[in-house]
Amino acid sequence: MLETPTDVTLTELAEVLQVLLDLNIPQTTIDNFGLTWLRSYLQAQRPSTEYPKKPPKCFRCLETATRYTTSKTNTKGNGGRPYFKCDPCNKFLVFADYRGNYPRHDPQRGPEDNICHCSVSTKRLIAGRDKNNPGQVFYVCRQGTCDAYIPCVELGTNRAIKIALGLQSELAELCII
Ligand SMILES: [Zn+2]
Ligand SMILES: [Zn+2]
Repeated sequence: MLETPTDVTLTELAEVLQVLLDLNIPQTTIDNFGLTWLRSYLQAQRPSTEYPKKPPKCFRCLETATRYTTSKTNTKGNGGRPYFKCDPCNKFLVFADYRGNYPRHDPQRGPEDNICHCSVSTKRLIAGRDKNNPGQVFYVCRQGTCDAYIPCVELGTNRAIKIALGLQSELAELCII
């Protein structure tokens, strides 16, 4: 974990599980059992919530969205990922997959558990290298039907939670982001 006055960067998988999923699994256990084991374990402990199967209506213009898939060579950690976009508005709406679909919303847990403007649980994403806050974890509408943007911050200190971009592909494989 790297700490600055304004943010905290999680550099190990075990830290990510602790901070984002409230699961205490030692890094040595993860190293010993491997990612395939961890993926099954997470699916049992923290199953992801549904994503939109049909194109949502754009919340800006009310037109029905169109389904696309990102290029396999997408450099933002999102290669081959299906998503919905509004063509008339030329706006990305939501990824159509289970990744980062945060199932819990318990206000006692703080900002982590915020719900979107549609009053449902959110989808966890991470800002890529091309953004001004690379590695920042944030939550958006899981259904693509509102423009919620909820930065993930540390309880108590309000410091931004970031994840080392080197962990990105493992976290994608585990459906955490
Ligand atoms: Zn639109
Ligand atoms: Zn929403």
